[in-house]
This record gives sequence, C-alpha cells and structure tokens, in this order.
Amino acid sequence: MEYMLKVKELNNSMFLKAYILTFGCQQNEADSEKLSGMAEAMGYEIVDKPDDADLIVVNTCAIREHAEQKALSTVGQFKHLKNKKPGLVIAVCGCMVAQEHRQNDIKFRYPYVNFIFGTTALHRFPELLYKNLTEKKRLYHNEEAARTIAEGIPIKRNNGYKAWVSVMYGCNNFCSYCIVPYVRGRERSRRPEDICAEVKELVDNGYKDITLLGQNVNSYGKDADFDCDFADLLDKLASFEGDYTLHFMTSHPKDASRKLIDVMAKHERIAKHFHLPMQSGSDEVLRRMNRRYDTEKYYGIVEYIREKMPECVITSDIIVGFPGETEEDFEETLNMLKKVGFDMLYSFIYSPRKGTPAAEMEDQIPREIQNARFDRLLETQNAIALEKNLPMVGKTVRVLCDGESKTNSETYSGRTEGNKIVFFDGECSDKGKYVNIKIDRAEAFALYGKKIK
Ligand code: SAM
Ligand code: SF4
Repeated sequence: MEYMLKVKELNNSMFLKAYILTFGCQQNEADSEKLSGMAEAMGYEIVDKPDDADLIVVNTCAIREHAEQKALSTVGQFKHLKNKKPGLVIAVCGCMVAQEHRQNDIKFRYPYVNFIFGTTALHRFPELLYKNLTEKKRLYHNEEAARTIAEGIPIKRNNGYKAWVSVMYGCNNFCSYCIVPYVRGRERSRRPEDICAEVKELVDNGYKDITLLGQNVNSYGKDADFDCDFADLLDKLASFEGDYTLHFMTSHPKDASRKLIDVMAKHERIAKHFHLPMQSGSDEVLRRMNRRYDTEKYYGIVEYIREKMPECVITSDIIVGFPGETEEDFEETLNMLKKVGFDMLYSFIYSPRKGTPAAEMEDQIPREIQNARFDRLLETQNAIALEKNLPMVGKTVRVLCDGESKTNSETYSGRTEGNKIVFFDGECSDKGKYVNIKIDRAEAFALYGKKIK
C-alpha cells in the first residue's frame, strides 16, 4: 500500500498507461488482475495495446518449453518500443522468471528489461517499480516461498460476470514432470473468512460465475491453523443468497474425497463439473510421474461422482510421451479414455522441465512418436466427445452468455455449467446472463441451438 501511494505521487497528474500481458493458466490470469489493480492504484490507465504504454508487464508461464519461448520472443519484440521511448519501464514476472536460469537469460540477453519478480513476490510489484523509477537500477527479485499471504491487493477484474478467486497458492506434490512446486512455492491456504468475504462481495455485485483456484484444492487447509477443508469451504461458499455458480480447479485424484463429491451433489450452486487430471492410464507411468494413485483408485472416484451426480461433466488432463512410455502404456491410456468417457480433455505432449526428476529420466520419447501418439489420442477423444454430446440434442440447457461469438459475429456463444461451448441466436442484452438454449446440433467440441424465449 505504502509503495502504491509513493508511485502515485511520483506519477502525479501525468496520464500514464500500463499494458499487462498474460501467458499461461487461470492462476496467472488471476495474478494479472492483481497487477492491473495495483497499476491502476498507482495512477496508470490499463490499455490493451503495448504501443504507447509507459509500463509493460509480461506475466510469464513455465509449464512447457513452448510457453517460455513465446514469452521470451514477446519480450524481445518490446525492444523497439524501448528504443522509441527510453522512459518505458518493462517488467517480467511470473513462473518463468522464478527459475534462476531464466532470470539469467533476462539479465544478460534482454538488458532493456527494468525489473523482474517471481510469483511469490507479486505483492512487491509497487515497491520494485518505485525503486526502479527512483534509483534507476535494474532489479531482480525472487522471494523464497514466504509463508505469508498478501491480502488486500486491489483487483481489476477483466470480466463483469465471471471471476477467479484463489483459495490457496503453491503446490507440495512434486509430480516428477512438473515445474509448478519449484516456481510457486509451498502450499499456502487463504483464511476461509477472507475467501468468503471476497465471494460474497462478488455475488452481491452480480457476478454469476466464480471459479475457485488452487493447484490442488483438495489440500486446502492442510497447511493451516484453522479447521476447514475444501469441502467445508465449498459448503460455506455455496450458501449465499443469489443466482451464481461455483466452479473449482484443480482437484488431485490422490485425495479427491467422497465428502467433496457429497457437498457438490448437495448444492445447486456448485457446477456439476469435475476436472480430475488423470495424466496417464498406465499404473507404471503414474508411479514414475509420482502421482500417488493408480487407475483403480481413479476409476473409483469417477464411479462415485456418477453415482451421486449422473449428469456431471468429467474432464481431464493427459500427458503424452512421458519418459519410458511404451506403446502398451499408451494403449492403456486410450483404454481408460474409453472406459471413463471424458467429456473433454486437455492433452499435452510431455515437455522436459529443467530441474525436475523426469527431465533426467532415461528413455525420453522421440518427438515423432510423441506427435503420432498425440494425434491418436485426439482422434480417440474426438469420437468420445461426440458420443457424449449427441444425446444433448433436443434438450434445453442453461447457458451463461459470453456475447457475440469471436469467430462469427452473427451468432452468440456461452458456456454450460460443465463448460461446454454453445452457439445460439442470442442478442446483445444476453451477455453476462443465463439463457435457456434448446440444442439442435452437436459436434465433438460444440453444441448449437436456439434460445427459448
Ligand atoms: N495442479 C494441476 C494438477 O495437478 O492437475 C495442474 C497444473 S498444470 C498448470 C496443468 C497441466 O499441465 C497438468 O495437469 C499437466 O497435464 C500439464 N503439465 C504439467 N507439466 C507438464 C510438462 N512438463 N509437460 C507437459 N505437460 C505438463
Ligand atoms: Fe504440478 Fe502435480 Fe502440483 Fe499439479 S499437483 S501443480 S501437476 S506438481
């Protein structure tokens, strides 16, 4: 707070602009809303183009090599803006620069970047900006995962009816392929009263769709001195007056509890959508991934979800081409896809991450084999998704309208509570509202229908 005021004083009555660019997951989107909130509190107007900005912040991702290369090349493109406007301040933050080798890359290869800070130092953004503006020195800040959680950071939300709410930060799971625990630090749960206050305020302000975020929400509260697990929290959050829907992500199968599924089944306000990353259908690969569940345990959770909520949409994450994955392992994954019948999959080709155990494993899979397996995975899943969507034809579903479709301005689009995209004959005033759509056509990735007036 102190530094936000100081920067505001420095910027006194100048009309300065800030451009904030986000790569990566929903957690990064949520972090960027805080960066925007802080920038606005410091007197910057948030703009959606970098060209005439006075401050550019690039919030980076490290989950796969491709994400890092994209962020680096974007930072590279900002050099010409700095040449044109030497007073431009460029900051790089987020997961990528929480890694020492990437900090060094920025330090030596991008000398025009003013300062960098890792994910656990997000709240230090105003302080670093102030010091850079006043001391004119390049700054590198990567706080070691502090136990503290910074509350009260201003948030500038990008959407007036959908909101992200972080319930916890960090991850303790150390899946052998994943960089997250190294760049986001240990698990820290926010206090339930702070989360309740934030969600209640959103609901009172008319927000319809609220997604609770955590790398593994099932660990919520385990690190804390209060007695409230994620199921208890969800139960409280679903009990406010108002027409809203709660979503959450992500739930780790090793400790997805029956209690959580029971709470979901009990409340209409909790979306009947379970995102349960499986990663692989081979027990041997799961063991080497350090996932700490097997396919039997995974399928047991799916059965309990379907028993309690037969209509629940189940989605998952799959990694293809993990080190040592054999043809048999991969076929077991395809078989699990068919057995579970996922509504949707987020599939990834394994990308070695420096410093993680899997990157050092023998038997890395050649790219051509990874690509061929990836194509087969998509083909199998497309057929399953179509099979799941076809029975929706003729049914009426409630959809939260997102306004005009991005690809065809003559149609409108929205999402079901299970996050399926629906295209329909909407109108301007529908944006941000629930509408009932009668489905008349289904494809693997989309539903089409007409609005019921
Ligand atoms: N915490 C969540 C969980 O455990 O499911 C997921 C977090 S991560 C941002 C999202 C997904 O990225 C993971 O579920 C995994 O499928 C994928 N992923 C993570 N590391 C990866 C890697 N090195 N290569 C490819 N995909 C990866
Ligand atoms: Fe990564 Fe595993 Fe943590 Fe998810 S649970 S963030 S995949 S280490």
